[in-house]
Amino acid sequence: MAAYDAIVLGLGGMGSATLFHLARRGLRVLGLERFDLVHEHGSSHGLTRIIRLAYWEHPTYVALLRRAYELWRELESLADERLLHITGSVDAGPEGGAIFQGALRSSQFHGLPHEVMDGAELHRRFPGYRLPRETRCLYQPEGGFLLPERCNVAHVAQAQTHGAEVHCREPVLEWGAEEGRTWVRTARGRYEAGRLVICAGPWASKLVPELSGLAVAERQVLAWLQPARPELFRLGAFPVFNLEVEEGRFYGFPSFLVPGFKFGKYHHRGETVDPDQVNREPEPADEELLRDFARRYFPDGAGPALMLKACLFTNSPDRHFILDRHPDHPEVSIAAGFSGHGYKFCSVVGEVMADLAQTGRSRHDIEFFRLGRFAAT
Ligand SMILES: Cc1cc2nc3c(=O)[nH]c(=O)nc-3n(C[C@H](O)[C@H](O)[C@H](O)COP(=O)(O)OP(=O)(O)OC[C@H]3O[C@@H](n4cnc5c(N)ncnc54)[C@H](O)[C@@H]3O)c2cc1C
Repeated sequence: MAAYDAIVLGLGGMGSATLFHLARRGLRVLGLERFDLVHEHGSSHGLTRIIRLAYWEHPTYVALLRRAYELWRELESLADERLLHITGSVDAGPEGGAIFQGALRSSQFHGLPHEVMDGAELHRRFPGYRLPRETRCLYQPEGGFLLPERCNVAHVAQAQTHGAEVHCREPVLEWGAEEGRTWVRTARGRYEAGRLVICAGPWASKLVPELSGLAVAERQVLAWLQPARPELFRLGAFPVFNLEVEEGRFYGFPSFLVPGFKFGKYHHRGETVDPDQVNREPEPADEELLRDFARRYFPDGAGPALMLKACLFTNSPDRHFILDRHPDHPEVSIAAGFSGHGYKFCSVVGEVMADLAQTGRSRHDIEFFRLGRFAAT
């Protein structure tokens, strides 16, 4: 039986960052991952993830985002690799809609550089976009995208340079905590540590029953379609977007790594799933739903399919994150419920979770993300 200062359960986006921050502080850490270091079963695959500052979901996130940008830049320099591409971002929808109004509120509240325009002006600036004239669009120059698989690997590799031990293909079967110590039993052995950080993504409620109903896996599908006019969707010509239209809320990216216009629908077909049983093979109905959207709003991008991928969200009831210590075991902390918008925050969530493990408190204001908020309702 080996003893560590901390064990990180799950090395996806949040766990890999947590491992890095703990290791960098000189703690003896073990990272355990049930699949390969890079895999397609969880939430952090698919080549690109949007990052943006004008956060329409809630202005509370902006302070964390500023630190997230700083930490991503630092990781790039440590890894000597480009992980973050700035493209500008568009948050668009009806005048009174949640995306446009929320992005405007965040921009005004935090004094973020931004421009507001209608759908026609957006098309003049970025001709891949064909939104109705009356669509209200907020353009933010600091938006862009991250490369999630590369970011996860960079966090793990940097953690290893600080002595972290990493075991992949080693599922955690059970864990426990008593008298200030924690333990985990895996398919290969048993390990002890002073602290346990659970970053299990869609599997969170399987490991922490208290999260049942509070961290619910949902199937998503992403599409990459071949543009008829690739020059309109290339990096530099096409900002990332969040868009609210009558068909729902969608997000998208310029072509990158795969020569296709990439996009998806938030909460795709509303399929709540068991992450161990989910159908990861996209179906014709998945493609049809996405293609209908592209035909209408991005007709020059709606060519033949190049790639479709299924992926999982883990939704909390209010769609905000859960960052807290376990209600009964203060030695155990939990990062869960990222509700389809967590990736951009991994770098700073790693810092928050390392703080919680080390001192029980974080240097960042995480009151908004406490698990106890659900007990109160
Ligand atoms: C289609 C899609 C598009 C998205 N787009 C964006 C976006 O543009 N911008 C953005 O910010 N966010 C986006 N997100 C959300 C973001 O990707 C997630 O919030 C983030 O990846 C969650 O990271 P995680 O570490 O919680 O989960 P994961 O990355 O899934 O990591 C959890 C890890 O825990 C491991 N694990 C689970 N159980 C065990 C066990 N028993 N033992 C050992 N290991 C275990 C899993 O194998 C997995 O590797 C998107 C998500 C999806 C699905």
